[in-house]
Amino acid sequence: MADYREMWKDLGMDLETHDLLCEVLPVAFTDVYLSQKNRPEGMGYYDFVVSEIHGVRPAELIEAQKNGKKVFGSFCIFVPDEVIFAADAIATGLCGGSQFWVPGGEKVLPTNTCPLIKASVGARLDRTCPFFRIADMYIGETTCDGKKKAWEILKEDVPMYVMDLPQMKRRKDYKAWAEEITALKDKVEEFTGNKVDAEKLAASIKLINDKRRALQRLSNFRKNKNIPISGKDVLLISQIAFYDDPTRFTQMTNALCDELDKRVEEGISVFPKGTKRILLAGTPLAIPNWKLHNIVETTGGAVVCEEMCTGTRYFENLVEEGRDTFEGQVEALAERYMNINCACFTPNEARIDDIKRLVKEYDIDGVIDVNLKFCNLYDTEGFLVERALKEAGIPVLGIETDYTDADAQQLRTRIGAFIEMLG
Ligand code: SF4
Ligand code: SF4
Repeated sequence: MADYREMWKDLGMDLETHDLLCEVLPVAFTDVYLSQKNRPEGMGYYDFVVSEIHGVRPAELIEAQKNGKKVFGSFCIFVPDEVIFAADAIATGLCGGSQFWVPGGEKVLPTNTCPLIKASVGARLDRTCPFFRIADMYIGETTCDGKKKAWEILKEDVPMYVMDLPQMKRRKDYKAWAEEITALKDKVEEFTGNKVDAEKLAASIKLINDKRRALQRLSNFRKNKNIPISGKDVLLISQIAFYDDPTRFTQMTNALCDELDKRVEEGISVFPKGTKRILLAGTPLAIPNWKLHNIVETTGGAVVCEEMCTGTRYFENLVEEGRDTFEGQVEALAERYMNINCACFTPNEARIDDIKRLVKEYDIDGVIDVNLKFCNLYDTEGFLVERALKEAGIPVLGIETDYTDADAQQLRTRIGAFIEMLG
């Protein structure tokens, strides 16, 4: 990585501690990613993005700020990036996916908080991630209790705006979410000094839809018998989608898909024939959490679909384009976002239907239902999900894990046995 120390210093980062992270990340990346055989050439772009993870994109964001743009950081796929880009600002994902940041979060949060929240709070308060330093404002949401309370702690350190997400899906809840989207628009306008109108919002709806279309195209390749790209690689792309420039990301992902088109024509697979096709369902896998994909794909399985926020929940539905009034566009945004089936809703039966549909579409041999430790929502919903899958005759394994490697061997044994049983 090029020398970004001056930039990090200007961001008020703790350079000594950050150096430790810079030492471990390349080693993990080499072990998990660069050791793979026969990767598509188009992965070179994403490898570069990771090799410069705390350099290139942060430098771009700082440059944009110098040119008067504001940067908004968010932690959930319910926050509509469209509204932020429509105000000529930049949206970036901030979810922490490394154990490195967890102890920092534990200084202020109960230990029995999910690692994603602890890592996100730790990355900000310990000053060891440039993205968390750069964002001018954080946008939180009321999805789960851990996050709701974490925002109260974070707001002492950074400007924070919280969107109130309804927890049911009645007509009045769709209306309430549309009102929240309008309120976000007002806040973003006030903070940036830029007006959002129907023309700008239409352009940003298309911008984010284009990103979703590229991810859908990528995902469709995994439905083939010959799987032209590993699950690990697709996970990495999904994780980068949250913070890369959307136009460039879409372009690079479509270029990779052109290469995958050729691979499909030539019948190239990165897995041996007969490799078991696995769907991971559950809590999100924020960068650099590659643990489960790595375990599955080194124990005889191939991850071909993620029913996760770092997966289908992020890109499956598009916002309806072509509405020409601001009110109509907000309605279309509310419709699209409220159709995400997160465990924070009750009831959430549509999520079970989604998983069963994905099992068919991706010709899945077995489902692994993943829960990040201390996530009560997905843990509790796991009972209903796993029961429904068993009743439908779909093999399922429920697991709970965190960001440490303490359980890696045990998971390897359990996942290995599950995949063998599928045979
Ligand atoms: S799991 Fe739910 S709360 Fe978490 S990022 Fe996804 S939609 Fe948001
Ligand atoms: S994984 Fe669960 S507990 Fe953690 S942030 Fe998401 S919804 Fe909240």
